Amino acid sequence: MRILLLEDEQDIRESIAARFRQLGFVVDEAERASEAEGLALAFTFDAFVFDVRLPDGADAGFLLLERLRHLGNTTPVLFLTARDALEDRIKGLALGGDDYLVKPFALAELQARLQALLRRARIVPQNVFEKDGLRLEWNYKRVTYQGSEVKLTAKEYAILELLCQHPGKIYSRSEIADRVWGADFSAETNVVDVYVKNLRRKLGAWAVETVHGSGYRFPL
Ligand code: CA
Repeated sequence: MRILLLEDEQDIRESIAARFRQLGFVVDEAERASEAEGLALAFTFDAFVFDVRLPDGADAGFLLLERLRHLGNTTPVLFLTARDALEDRIKGLALGGDDYLVKPFALAELQARLQALLRRARIVPQNVFEKDGLRLEWNYKRVTYQGSEVKLTAKEYAILELLCQHPGKIYSRSEIADRVWGADFSAETNVVDVYVKNLRRKLGAWAVETVHGSGYRFPL
């Protein structure tokens, strides 16, 4: 899971980023709406967490979402704001925001809301994914195959989780690298091949299909 976090208050941004990284998310941080816009256009995210009042303007978070929706971006959004005015909430939701959290908030609440939002967006369709003897428990990042637990590294799990979100969908090596390693990924994309090889060794060759010239997919 990769999220884009736009928040200009450093303490808040760093504590949110640390929490989600601990949970295994890739977190891209931005302080300004203009910076977040560049990232949102360059990469695919599973969710956005946007502050509203930013150095770019008092409504910069809303305006950014408006521009992204206009370009056809449908990534689910959770807004953070210090303002509890009803009109702001209505405006945020009308612009295509999916949820709203008023500061100050507990990190546990943000985590619960974001996970609910990802489930609603069907990025995490249910708590459990099951197919052909393979079972993934999203909440616990636990994998079993034919009833036995399979120990995966965090990156192996992240690749499997990504592919299982849309069985049959082809992911290119660079897309997998972006989604699993994030913007700071600088290694050769054949690192992805090494992790796929490990997944096949642990789960069986069937678990990750190669689509020649295109990438990888989980079988339909
Ligand atoms: Ca702010």
